[in-house]
Amino acid sequence: MRIVSLAGGIGGARFLRGLLSAAPGSEITVIGNTGDDITLYGLQVCPDLDTVMYTLGGGIDEEQGWGRSEETHVVKEELAAYGVEPQWFGLGDRDVATHIVRTQMLKAGYPLSAVTEALCARWRPGVRLIPMTDDRAETHVVITDERGRRAVHFQEWWVRLRASVPAEQIILVGGDEARPAPGVLQAVADADVVLLPPSNPVVSIGTILRVKGIREALEPKTVVGVSPIVGGAPVRGMADACLRAIGVETTAQAVLELYGPPLVNGWLVAEEDAGVRLDGVRVEARPLIMRDLASARDLARAALDLAAELAHPGAGVREGNAR
Ligand code: GDP
Ligand code: CA
Repeated sequence: MRIVSLAGGIGGARFLRGLLSAAPGSEITVIGNTGDDITLYGLQVCPDLDTVMYTLGGGIDEEQGWGRSEETHVVKEELAAYGVEPQWFGLGDRDVATHIVRTQMLKAGYPLSAVTEALCARWRPGVRLIPMTDDRAETHVVITDERGRRAVHFQEWWVRLRASVPAEQIILVGGDEARPAPGVLQAVADADVVLLPPSNPVVSIGTILRVKGIREALEPKTVVGVSPIVGGAPVRGMADACLRAIGVETTAQAVLELYGPPLVNGWLVAEEDAGVRLDGVRVEARPLIMRDLASARDLARAALDLAAELAHPGAGVREGNAR
């Protein structure tokens, strides 16, 4: 089976780990969000691609959900001793090596998709990880603070300000020009199933869908999404601040309407959101919290089962079901 999944950071990566375990023989292509990317001290940092790569490759800090395991922060301390800004972004020493390799290759002229493939040669994530675009498209957030109304990089709003200042607007700078990276549209065309993991619907999934041609390519496919919102709140993080910025309620219903048909055909919600309904979409309630590998695997399996049911109504798909 060929599966395509979009992905942001933690929610996406944990879901993908479950998916690999639920569908071991499948060919999985992951289209990663690069709207969160930032240049720090001259280094190109791709937080979401790295979270997927480290999580699936066994190098993630499990508790934190991002960054390297067994990390140290000597470089960060030394930079701070020089008074170098920004000091609010936590770059670990092991992580820095990834960004150095990436930046070197980009400077040598390789596109981000080729660089990501090269980094994955070390991590062997078990999926084909492709950035949504090789072009530069960065999420910026319009805020008003003591310095007036201005746009800051998404990471400054998210990490430094902890999204405590309301986002008046969320803009993908370069979004209109960005083209899908090589392989993205072909993978979607070849896919039997497309999954939208419980990633941030605005700045992860929403950003990927903004890249010209990706949404259109997905629409004719069987697409199943998993709600990142349970009982009116994000499972973790501050997705509610992003939804507020685009005038969408923080509910599983509103996020489904945001994606809507014809993009999404199936939608998994938590038991407490079982009342969610939308014409043209099959909604099912399942346990949505990924506590460990087993619960992530069950969630991925539920998404695959729903996709199979939507693609071939009436046919059993799980082993042991009547065919
Ligand atoms: P980020 O880039 O690290 O913010 O990660 P993502 O964009 O992949 O995902 C963030 C979203 O994942 C948040 O809106 C969370 O509510 C959601 N999320 C995180 N863990 C879980 C989980 O166990 N279950 C579900 N349903 N959503 C989750
Ligand atoms: Ca992210």
